[in-house]
Amino acid sequence: MTDALVLIDPSTSTVEPADLRAPQLPVDDLSAHRGDGIFETVLVRVDESSDEVVVVSRERHFARFRSSAAALDLPDPDPELWDRALDAVIAEVRAARPGSTEFGIRYTYSRGLDAPRGWAFSVPVGDSVLRARQEGVTAVSLDRGYDAYLGSKAPWLLIGAKTISYAINQAAGRYAAERGADDSLFVSHDGVVLEGPTSNLIIRRGDRLLTPDPAAGLLWGTTQRLIFDHAEALGLDAEYADLRLGDVVDADGAWFVSSMRTAVALTCLDGNPINHDDELTQQLQNVITRG
Ligand code: PLP
Repeated sequence: MTDALVLIDPSTSTVEPADLRAPQLPVDDLSAHRGDGIFETVLVRVDESSDEVVVVSRERHFARFRSSAAALDLPDPDPELWDRALDAVIAEVRAARPGSTEFGIRYTYSRGLDAPRGWAFSVPVGDSVLRARQEGVTAVSLDRGYDAYLGSKAPWLLIGAKTISYAINQAAGRYAAERGADDSLFVSHDGVVLEGPTSNLIIRRGDRLLTPDPAAGLLWGTTQRLIFDHAEALGLDAEYADLRLGDVVDADGAWFVSSMRTAVALTCLDGNPINHDDELTQQLQNVITRG
């Protein structure tokens, strides 16, 4: 996988290629030592027959990027500038690897030091992602430490903004691994299912897809919304709902959904097996990769 990086200067509206393996960021940048910034990760797909490039949910991602910026009081990001940055990374990856059919781009907007700064770089779709798409994943449930629907009462917690402060999310992944699980599922302190540390949860109950209400205290995912927009075409209703752990275990199918993983089956939660729906897993993956 090619390592493509561009640096984005919002004050001059410029996008410059740079070396991902060389130092680029002053250590006193507020993203580096305060986690003060926001990011998005998009999946880029190249159609093998038509060579058409699709940035999956490009507008959904940018809309969320803007609302995350607003939540952190960062200046509104200019769509033209960030689009140019994405296109530059895509061009660099494709020039170096003409056969690439799938990769990610992570774009970040930091408070900077004297002024905000940004960057965007390519990320590979790793083996663990490919395996999870095929085989699904297991998870343990973890208390997120706050009650559901806290966000509107405590906006400073930035619940629902995609900030770069992911130490808790990373720790949840390690905690799950120590317990022999692939992933974890956050639950509010009062027992409402929220999300995975880097994904949303969707379950199927009969002919309905259900997902936790973003207002309960989670990141409103672009992938979940893409799936919900296509639910009718799959012959399914789609609704937001307060779910308990028992609802997940008793579901007719459950998936972690996110941009890079697309839709991966949740096969077992806290040691309890969950029904598989392999056909729907494939359909959801197809919906997502078509963008
Ligand atoms: N929730 C969290 C905490 C995430 O980090 C992510 C993805 O990074 C998601 C949900 C899924 O969001 P999306 O589908 O936009 O990738």
